[in-house]
Amino acid sequence: MPRSLVTGGAGFLGSHLCEYLLRKGHRVIAMDNLLTGTTDNIAHLQGDRFSFVRHDITEYIYLAGKLDFVWHFASPASPLDYLQLPIQTLKVGALGTHKALGLAMEKKAKFILASTSEVYGDPLIHPQQENYWGNVNPVGPRGVYDEAKRFAEALTMAYHRYNGVDTKIVRIFNTYGPRMRPNDGRAIPTFVPQALADKPITVFGDGSQTRSFCYVDDLIEGIHRLMMSDYHEPVNIGNPQEMTIRQMAESVIRLTSSRSKIVQKPLPVDDPKVRQPDIGLAIKLLDWQPQVDLQEGLRRTIAWFRSKPLPEEI
Ligand code: UDP
Repeated sequence: MPRSLVTGGAGFLGSHLCEYLLRKGHRVIAMDNLLTGTTDNIAHLQGDRFSFVRHDITEYIYLAGKLDFVWHFASPASPLDYLQLPIQTLKVGALGTHKALGLAMEKKAKFILASTSEVYGDPLIHPQQENYWGNVNPVGPRGVYDEAKRFAEALTMAYHRYNGVDTKIVRIFNTYGPRMRPNDGRAIPTFVPQALADKPITVFGDGSQTRSFCYVDDLIEGIHRLMMSDYHEPVNIGNPQEMTIRQMAESVIRLTSSRSKIVQKPLPVDDPKVRQPDIGLAIKLLDWQPQVDLQEGLRRTIAWFRSKPLPEEI
């Protein structure tokens, strides 16, 4: 029976990954310091094959027994979080990745780094292909995340090339679904509670900036396929269906039958103007494409938010 470690296992993506791996028959250890994750996300997974370890992976990771896979997902992941946790974001991307790679080397485990479309920064090439090196401001407020992930990619390739670790790198584009933190500041988990409460929908800038949103189940499927592949260079996983943020706000209003109106707020510093994955490589290499369209994905996400208490501050 394969044994997997998921760092950031109590987070949004990490918890969905744990659930997926348990379904595939793995034994799963979720490791998390609960800085932005919560055990609420994994409470339903408790059982013989699942365990949770509260640990800050920027410190040495000790794990007894064999380990087949390391899925390195620990990091704050919303622009608001990096503004509030800049040092922790840099540390987990750098020191945390070092510890996770060291563990994979020691255990001869396969390793995958959750990287990000943020390595492309405010891209000058559209859509973004894996061979684009990006347009990142290292000293802006988003730099703490972007540069940590760029360093993490470099470290992962170094462990692959010089230490022979079997590594993979997934560049994750905007992803959404159940278990996003309602107050994490990202567009969808902000808009949905706002719409459900008939409160103003806060669009930053004029809302003409674009994003391409992938439903979480599609993303996890793609990541699993990449881990099982023999490919070591970065691979984009995301849904290429691009839209403006204003269109996203309008879709959320429509699907929740909300009376909310759109209001404009200042655009955050270095907010990328466009973002869309070129997924040609994933299609060819992994025979993977997203299956859940926006309407269906939003429907499931809205249903989940409806089942939870609305946040006090919206
Ligand atoms: N955004 C917005 N209103 C919000 C939160 C986000 O208009 O309440 C915008 C944000 O400025 C960005 C886009 O939505 O252009 C996606 O933001 P998010 O934080 O979800 O992810 P990003 O792609 O910026 O990492």
